[in-house]
Formats: sequence, structure tokens, C-alpha cells
Amino acid sequence: MEKIVIIGTGCAGLTAAIYAARGGHQPLVLEGRQPGGQLTTTTLVENFPGFPGGIDGPDLVLKMKEQAEGFGARFSYAEVTAFEPRDGCVAVKADDKWIETRALIVASGAAARYLDLPGEEKLVGHGLTSCATCDGAFYRNVPVCVVGGGDSACEEATFLTRFASKVYLIHRRDKLRASKIMADRVLKNPKIEPIWNSTISEYLTTAEGEVRAVKLKDTKTGVESELEVKCVFSAIGHVPNTAAFRGKLQTDENGYLLKTHATATNVPGVFAAGDVSDHVYRQAVTAAGDGCAAALDAEKYLANLGA
Ligand code: NAP
Repeated sequence: MEKIVIIGTGCAGLTAAIYAARGGHQPLVLEGRQPGGQLTTTTLVENFPGFPGGIDGPDLVLKMKEQAEGFGARFSYAEVTAFEPRDGCVAVKADDKWIETRALIVASGAAARYLDLPGEEKLVGHGLTSCATCDGAFYRNVPVCVVGGGDSACEEATFLTRFASKVYLIHRRDKLRASKIMADRVLKNPKIEPIWNSTISEYLTTAEGEVRAVKLKDTKTGVESELEVKCVFSAIGHVPNTAAFRGKLQTDENGYLLKTHATATNVPGVFAAGDVSDHVYRQAVTAAGDGCAAALDAEKYLANLGA
């Protein structure tokens, strides 16, 4: 029987691990499919307090992991696929093995969304991706596009100008949702061309199944046109990673975990932290704050149990 199991190694999970480990609970941290969370797919993080010159996302999570390990947190790459409340504890199925724990912190984050167009699944990795940091360098001196109008889309578009000959920013409205500083950076960059009031209605591929162009649809007039790009970077938001908890932990209509008070969920001993339960702020620093709160709530829960 574990005392505290933490699912996820983004900012929320790792901060929870630092607090729980420093509290002497030697938490078991399950890393899942995307160790390090969304920060591993970003570049410079400029707004995490304490780093005036910014810090690379992957570096930030590595440092957090090192800090948690230093206090005695244990890490396992297992992925959680099922969950059930049991008598006096809860259990998670990780890589086919059930693990029982008194307290569970769910910090499984959220995954990138795609447009939900036909054939999309097969195109991921063949000219369709959600990670400019991971795949941008494959598209040197060719035109690419980014879909979306938020901070992610602006960040991806700006980063891609290092490699691509041209970056089209395709947005369904005529105004960016992104923060002013990020939007200004994009609008001033001569290598980025915004395409307003447009969505992608179809991916056009080569005989080998690689993206060669996209079909655009004007959201105001309905007129369709073709745009030649070698890669589409999807930056249209995220879906929470809560499939393993469906029907057991309460969620909102979009699948985000609901908290009953502080970080507690509807199941005693289960706490939620970070993007898996936050569709409003979704910042590295708010996720870290959430992780801290969840670890403190879990500690208090264990103390009340006398565990
Ligand atoms: P977001 O703010 O939710 O933006 C998603 C964008 O995708 C919106 O512009 C939205 O259009 C568009 N979109 C959604 N569904 C679409 C669809 N089906 N077809 C076409 N377009 C669609 O998501 P995000 O940019 O990933 O940002 C998430 C959070 O992370 C935000 O709080 C953001 O501030 C933060 N973030 C911060 C940084 C940073 O500060 N360095 C970097 C990245 C992200 P509409 O505008 O029309 O809704």
C-alpha cells in the first residue's frame, strides 16, 4: 500500500512530488505518456517567477524532477489506464499492475487538440503535428502553417520562423486571442502571414501520404482556396487526460476534473492539480501552485486517517 501516488510529471505533478517527498512521504510518481508534460514541448518560458532571462521549458521540468528526487520521490514510467475506489484506499492500474494508495494526486494534464478532420490520425507525424519545438527543424526553407489564435499559436509561429521559409497563421476570426506581447511579436514578424477568418477544411496529401497543402474555407464567405504548406502545426487548445477516471471522478462537460473543495475531488483521498482540472489559467506557475496545494491537502488527509 502506497501513501501518496502522483499521476503526471508536468509542473503540477512535480511540485506535488517536491512537497510530498519533502514531507517525508516518499511519493510514487507515475510519469505517463508525456513525461514532463506540456513544458517539454515549449521553448523559452519567460513568465515563471525567478528566471528574469527566461528558462527553457524542458530544463525547468528537469530541475523540478531533480528537486523531487533529492527529497526521496520515486519515479516510474507506467501509464495509468484505470482507477477504482476501494475500501479505505483507491487503486490505479498502471501498465497492467494495480497499485493501491491511501492518497492519490491526479496531475495528468491535457493533450493537444486537433481539428477532427478525416484521416487526421494517420497524418500525425507526416506533416501534421502539435509541437513546433519537436518537429519544426524538419521543415527548413519550406512553407508551413499554424492553426489557432492563442498564445500557443503565436509562440509556435514565432519559433517556426527560425526554420520555415514562410509561416502562415490560420485563425478562424480576425482578432488574436493571444496576450498582447505575443500577438504583437507575430504581427510584426515579416516571415509570418496571418490568414484571418479561415479554417482548414481538408488536408491534401502526396501519393506517399505526406501533407502537401491544405484546403482553406473562409468562415465569412464560405469560399474555398488551396494553400501550399509542408506541415500543419495544430495549436487550438487541449483536452484533459481523464479517460482513466471516466464515470468514477466527477468532471465538467469537457472532461475537466471537478473539485468539491480546495483540491479534493468527489472521491475521498483523491486530489486534482494542474491542467487536468483547470481550463481557465493553464499556466506553469498556477499548475505548480495547484500541485503544492494538492500535496498539502493529501498530507492533511493522511494525518486525519492516522496514516
Ligand atoms: P487557447 O488560448 O484556448 O487558444 C486556442 C485557439 O484555437 C483560439 O484562438 C481558438 O479560436 C482556436 N480554436 C479552438 N478550436 C478551434 C477549431 N476547432 N478550429 C479553429 N480554431 C480553433 O489555447 P492556447 O493557445 O493553447 O493557450 C492555453 C493557455 O496556455 C492560455 O491560458 C495561454 O495564455 C497559455 N499559454 C501561455 C504561453 C506563454 O505565456 N508563454 C504560451 C502558450 C500558452 P478563438 O480565439 O476563436 O476561440
